[in-house]
Amino acid sequence: MTTRTYWLEHAWLGTHVEPGVALTTRDGRITAVRTGVPTPPPGAEILRGLTLPGLANAHSHAFHRALRGTVQVGSGTFWTWREVMYSVADRLTPETYHALARGVYAEMALAGITCVGEFHYVHHAPGGTPYADPNAMGEALIAAAAEAGVRITLLDTCYLSSGFGEPPNIHQRRFSDGSAQAWAERCAALKERGHARIGAAVHSVRAVPAGQLATVARWAEERRAPLHVHLSEQTAENDACLAAHGRTPTRLLADHGVLGPRTTGVHNTHLTDEDIALLGGSGTGTCMCPTTERDLADGIGPAAALQRAGSPLSLGSDSHAVVDLLEEARAMELNERLRTRSRGHWTAAALLRAASADGHAALGWQDAGSLEAGALADFTTVALDSVRTAGPVPRLGAETAVFAATAADVRHTVVGGRHVVRDGAHALVPDVPRALTAAIEALRG
Ligand SMILES: [Zn+2]
Repeated sequence: MTTRTYWLEHAWLGTHVEPGVALTTRDGRITAVRTGVPTPPPGAEILRGLTLPGLANAHSHAFHRALRGTVQVGSGTFWTWREVMYSVADRLTPETYHALARGVYAEMALAGITCVGEFHYVHHAPGGTPYADPNAMGEALIAAAAEAGVRITLLDTCYLSSGFGEPPNIHQRRFSDGSAQAWAERCAALKERGHARIGAAVHSVRAVPAGQLATVARWAEERRAPLHVHLSEQTAENDACLAAHGRTPTRLLADHGVLGPRTTGVHNTHLTDEDIALLGGSGTGTCMCPTTERDLADGIGPAAALQRAGSPLSLGSDSHAVVDLLEEARAMELNERLRTRSRGHWTAAALLRAASADGHAALGWQDAGSLEAGALADFTTVALDSVRTAGPVPRLGAETAVFAATAADVRHTVVGGRHVVRDGAHALVPDVPRALTAAIEALRG
């Protein structure tokens, strides 16, 4: 048994900032949280700054990291961006994907992220031929997360069609298992392990024929696994769905048993009032990805209305235009301010909850995301003495961390009681920028 004690100069305890907290961990879990400890106990690891629960990045496509910068030239839409994205997807192999994901997940650890939801659909070799191990790509991602020291929920994604009634195009053939039943059989071979859980995803109503949605939903139901789906990110998807089925994507998912408390709709941008009621009433979660949604000119989703209707909120960096969960959290509030011309839709505490406890729950880690006895020992410390965060130490809230700090202010990240980031340096991947550069160069050839 490994027992450790950490002394937190300041800790976010869900409702307020507490100075001087001793936190004991054993075998990867928090066993005790003691307040009123003004000086570090002997032998304790000292975490100066504000310690938060580990952040959950609930929506990731690791390979999109290779696009950063290159897609910022010229004009276009989501659909023109997608063509560039497919040109990268075409070149991935299990080896190059492993190297890239290792760098991306290490970047996440440096940003205070302790758990990632990888929405994974590049399953087979180009053209659609399975690898010798049909799960070689998914296994590469699970291994990359282990090497980067973060938890992963592999959201293995069913992707069968290019549009309503259209076969996959030349880029999409490697995403397809041919049928939802074949997808289910392949996924059944994936094994959970200490740092990895397996979930399911429907890529979108465009990519899974309506008659096969229930197969994916049943697979997740039988395993009590999370089920994610891209939902109404684009109005063109809504229009095509209405033309093909006479109903919105949300209504289509509801009619085929996809919605429910273990389901998360990603983006949920262009919704009707009925859609919002269906999502909220069924307890379906909403994962907002504000930095990607603004990068791709998607529009602003009705996150506040969804939450009021009963939909728990989580956050994701999705295309990794930037990897910064604090930025995702404040962007949700700031987008709502721009739209409504009023302030204060979420408190810093509510935004942190989306970035930690509710994000973890959306990924099937109900036992992570809070600093309390019994929880997984996953936490991250934000510097309070950087140029961005300097000032009187907050007595009450986490406003400075949520509204001013960036990923660059993350000083420590601990996952399962293990120090993955110490003093701003990754303990397992020695030079993360270099690892990323090498991986992206190898991919470009
Ligand atoms: Zn996505």
